[in-house]
Formats: sequence, C-alpha cells, structure tokens
Amino acid sequence: MNAEILCVGTELLLGDVVNTNAAEVAKELAALGINVYHHEVVGDNPKRLKESLELSFKRADLVILTGGLGPTYDDLTKETVAAYFGKELVMDEEYLKLLKGFFEKSKRKMTDNNIKQAMMPEDCLVLENPMGTAPGCILEKDGKIAIMMPGPPREMLPMLQGPVREFLKSKSDCILTSRVLNVYGIGESSIEAELKDIMVNYKNPTLAPYAKTGECQLRITARAKTEEEGMRLIEPVKKEILQRFPNGEIYGENYESLFEAIVDCLCENNHTLACAESLTGGLISSRIVDYPGASKVLMGSAVVYSNEAKNKLLGVSEDTLKKFGAVSKECAAEMAENARKIMGADIGLSTTGIAGPSGATDKKPVGLVYIAVSTEKGTAVEQLHLARGRKDDREMIRNASCCKGAFMVLKASKQLKSF
Ligand code: ATP
Repeated sequence: MNAEILCVGTELLLGDVVNTNAAEVAKELAALGINVYHHEVVGDNPKRLKESLELSFKRADLVILTGGLGPTYDDLTKETVAAYFGKELVMDEEYLKLLKGFFEKSKRKMTDNNIKQAMMPEDCLVLENPMGTAPGCILEKDGKIAIMMPGPPREMLPMLQGPVREFLKSKSDCILTSRVLNVYGIGESSIEAELKDIMVNYKNPTLAPYAKTGECQLRITARAKTEEEGMRLIEPVKKEILQRFPNGEIYGENYESLFEAIVDCLCENNHTLACAESLTGGLISSRIVDYPGASKVLMGSAVVYSNEAKNKLLGVSEDTLKKFGAVSKECAAEMAENARKIMGADIGLSTTGIAGPSGATDKKPVGLVYIAVSTEKGTAVEQLHLARGRKDDREMIRNASCCKGAFMVLKASKQLKSF
C-alpha cells in the first residue's frame, strides 16, 4: 500500500510551526511497511485542500491528514474529505454526548462551534481523542482510505499510535525492520563510493546513508512478514558492509551518536572517564550526560578555558604553558593525564585548540586542534586541522573535535580492555 501525508494548516506553510506530525506519521508508516512517497502541506483553504487531496489519491491509496479538525470556521478538513468521498456530515449523537460531558466536567461553556465537532462524515469510523475535543476519523471507499487526525501533536500522537496503528496493521501484510550501522571518520560521499552497488541494486533490504553531525549512519531496511524474517535478510548485508570497512570505521550498531556509544562501551568495559575541555567548553561531557548511565562512567569534566585554570585546576605546568602554549601537543597531553589522575578515572580526555575567528597566529591557525587521550598505558595526542574557511567554522570545529575526542575514547576503552 502506498500512502501520502497531507498536513493542513497555514501556520505550517508560514513556518510558524514545524511540521513534526509529518515526521511522526512517516516513522509510523515506515514501521508498518507502508511506502510513503510524498508529504504535502496545505493552508486552511478548502479549494487548495481539495486539489491536494485529489492529487494525493491519484498517486496513493491511503492519505493521512492532520490538522483542521477543530471547531473554528477555518477547520475544514472533515468537510472537504467527506465531499471528496461523496459523503455528508451528520451529527454523531454519541460523540455529542461525550463532548457535552467533557464540557460539563471541565465547567466550560459549550458553544455552537464546539457542537460542530460532533458532526462526522457518514459511514466513517470515529477515532476518539482522549487528549482534546476534536475526534479523528477514517473514511474508506473503493480501495481509497483517508485518515484524519487533529493537528496538536499531543492529540495526534496517541491517536496515531493507538487506533490508527491497529487499523493500519489490519491492512498491511508486512513490516519494515531496520538496523543502523554507526560510522565515524569517513564522509558520506566516500561511503557511497564504497557501497554504491549495494545502494543501487539491493531492493530488499535497502541501504541508505545518513550524514549526522560529525558522523554517518548506514540504515539497512528489510520488508518482511515478521521482524525475525527481516533480520535474516539484514544480517548478510551487514556482514558484507563490515567486510568493506575493516579498519574500525563502523564503531557500533543502532546508536544515536558517538556519545551514546561511549556510555554503553565504558559501562560494558567497566571504565571511567575524566574530561578536561578547553576548546569544547564542556560540550563533550554535556553530550555524554544526555544518555542514561552517564553517571556510571563520567567522573567529571573540568572546563579549563584560561591558562590560569589549566594551571590551577589541572596542574598543567607553567613551563609547558610558557614554552609550548595552551594550544599544543604538550598541553593537551598534560591536561588529559592530569584530569585522569586527579579524578581517579581510567581514561582522561582533553581538547585544546583555536576555534576562531580570532586567536590565531602564523604558527597556530584557526582550526588547529589537539586532542589527547590518556590511560595507564600511555597518552596519545592527535593534531587536527579542521578549518574550512567558512562562516560556521567555529561551531564545526568544536563539533568535529567533540566527535573525534569521543571516537578516541571508544578506541582507548577497547584497547585498555584487550590488555
Ligand atoms: P484544534 O482542535 O486544536 O483546533 P486542529 O485539528 O484544528 O486542532 P489545527 O488548528 O490545524 O488543528 O492546529 C492546531 C495546532 O496544532 C497548531 O497551531 C500547531 O501548534 C499544531 N499543529 C498542527 N499541525 C501540526 C503539524 N503538522 N506538526 C506540528 N504541529 C502541528
């Protein structure tokens, strides 16, 4: 079954509201194995809504609409869709009773336009709205299905994940199962060059790369009757991909980011981490604590932006700071080592560098970054040149440093475990 998503609301067209409903509905349809080829947004205008609906039904059997179900004069979704199906709106006495009860209970006056909400297309399946007053509904005729849900996400989501999911399950005979491989250190274009034959030729499962901040994801998606069958299709493709990237570029599976992988990996290896962040100003530790379990692995983080802080809080020697400067291999190494020792952690991570746009010298340009990782086995420092000469370089340099640091921690934990 092919589906389209049609979101109604002028506020969406103007960019005042971000269309999160489309994303939620699309995710749900993907999980149910229903193809979605088009999303559309249309304003609160019956003529244009009618045109969009006609176009959607030319291409798809299922159209899911959100928004425009409310009580006001510009809420026209039900009327327009009912007309498309050749149906009248009729009073749903049962729903009217429910609505009246709701208004009585909440001691609010029920106005005429609230009563309009109980007018439903004849022969529709009513979808109750426990979070609000506008019910949703499903209309079905000659192999075409329209599902209408309210616009507010807190009302739409429970309806989508409850009765709409059940209804669609009964219509679909397969589900989509996905696995994500997490990749660091190779750009999307190089990934594509390496895997293009799979991406182009494989139909089930399919393979798609997604660039994320500082890293990439490879999503393998199979269509099958059950999740087990889907996994059986996915496994050989996964194996093939892993063989093509033999140098540890694929750092994990099904992680949202490198930082989630850190929490998981350090927990599993029973390792703790201490950070000393200059350039990244606490970003690394902040991203780690986004994930539950962080308290087991992150001992602490010292945000040491000035030379004084590096010296007084972390004991980086005045000599090092004078002789090599704060942005140096030597300083990065001392920061990581001292953070590890002071906080009693297994791994110390440090970042220092020049994010720009100011602060550069002839010898130390914008984008020069040192990242160090220290364990009892030794300290490794990497020198990076991250500037691209663009306006958003500062943010990019800090982000890229966070990801590189996280990747180095992952490697260090794996190495430490294997000793
Ligand atoms: P109501 O009963 O509140 O009138 P409705 O079904 O008529 O609901 P709309 O009036 O179209 O829905 O939208 C109400 C609010 O819901 C919008 O102002 C917006 O905040 C939110 N909303 C609507 N559509 C979307 C969407 N596609 N994505 C995210 N939020 C949305």
